[in-house]
Parts: sequence; structure tokens; C-alpha cells
Amino acid sequence: MRISRTGVDKYSECPRCFHLQYVKGLKRPPGYPFSLNNTVDALLKKEFDTHRAAGTQHPAQLTFGTDLRPAQHEQINRWRTNRSGVEFVDEHREITWFGAIDDLWIDSQGLYYVVDYKATGKLQPVLNMDPDWMSGYKRQAEFYQFLLRKNGLEVSDRAYFLYCTGDRSRAVFNEEIKFHSELIAYDGSTEWIESTLDQVVSTLALEESPAANEECNYCKYVNERNSIN
Ligand code: SF4
Repeated sequence: MRISRTGVDKYSECPRCFHLQYVKGLKRPPGYPFSLNNTVDALLKKEFDTHRAAGTQHPAQLTFGTDLRPAQHEQINRWRTNRSGVEFVDEHREITWFGAIDDLWIDSQGLYYVVDYKATGKLQPVLNMDPDWMSGYKRQAEFYQFLLRKNGLEVSDRAYFLYCTGDRSRAVFNEEIKFHSELIAYDGSTEWIESTLDQVVSTLALEESPAANEECNYCKYVNERNSIN
């Protein structure tokens, strides 16, 4: 069985939704495709790949005065592809865990750093990872650190988010959107992951789906809809 990083995150958000999908075969309807965000991601990848090929630093990597560069690794394209991603064949749990990274950087000591690109259209530029709603992004980076370590890489607890916020303050569109780019360092921990994977395995063995997350608007909607004749 293969379970993606988003599958594990679904478990963290709501074990019921995870169980409905992986055991009962009922998937929550997909959200809108983020095609503008994906465009920014694709362009950033090209930009960083130019520096990867040349072995040079991207200007964003100078933000913290670091010697970081895009990592040249034979697996980088596979690790960035959604269907393959970074894989960990977990023989003990009989599950392959996987997830696709946006980028991987390396310092002069050979230590690797997980990097995630984010694009948004918020009114104010995103400058830090403090808000509660960003906890999923942090789990995302930590899970990639876990997967890369399982692949034998020495990976820093520090991850980087390159946050690009579209600038709405300009007077005209003129067929272009300017972005404010902020490189945000996040020091996380992967300590939660092994026990969470054990819980995921236990949930897969349940016949009945666990209770729903009371905060979730989808099930609230279904319950209220069902109470109307
Ligand atoms: S509360 Fe319902 S819809 Fe929301 S995540 Fe859980 S099972 Fe899915």
C-alpha cells in the first residue's frame, strides 16, 4: 500500500476522513485546482534549476547570509514528481510513504534543506509562519525531512519557505503581477511522525470510521443538510 504525505496529513486533520478514503473508498470532493500557484511554482523551479545547473546561488539564498545552493542530486527530478516523490518503503508497517518536494538546497557542509514554494494573493505579504492555519505547511516540511532522512540524506531541522505574495497595490494590471518574495526559515521537528504512522496503521485496521472532526465545515454542512426535509 502507498500513502502520500497528504494522506498522512488528512489523518492528522481528521481520522474519519482518512478512514473513509483509505478503507471505505470514499474520497472527499477535490477543491479548485490552484493553477496560478502552480504557474509560480513551475517558474520558480526553472529559475532555481538554472542556478542548480551552474552551481551558483539564487539571490533569495543570500537572505540569511548563508552559503546555500540548489542541491545537485541524481534523484532530484524523481523527488519533485508528484506520482513518485521521495519514497520510504516501510517494511515494518508494510506501507510505502511518499511525498514530492518543491526543492532541495544544500550548504557547504553537505547538509540538505527542504524547501517549499508558496504563492498567494493575500492583501499583505506573508512574512512569517506564525499563524495557526500554517501548521499543515510545517507538517509538510517535516514529513519531507523524515522521508529524505529515510533515504540516507543528512537533513537539517531547518526548512525554508519561499513565500511569494502578489502585489495588489499597483495601479494597473498591464498583463503582469508583481510578487513580494520572502524567504522564511522554519525550525521544526519530526518527532511526531513515527507515532503518527503507528496511529495511521491502527486506523487502517478499524472496521468502523472514527468520529468526525467537529471543527470541519464539510461534515457540519452534511449534518445540517440531512436535518432539512
Ligand atoms: S469532519 Fe467529515 S468532511 Fe471533515 S474531514 Fe472529517 S470526515 Fe472529512
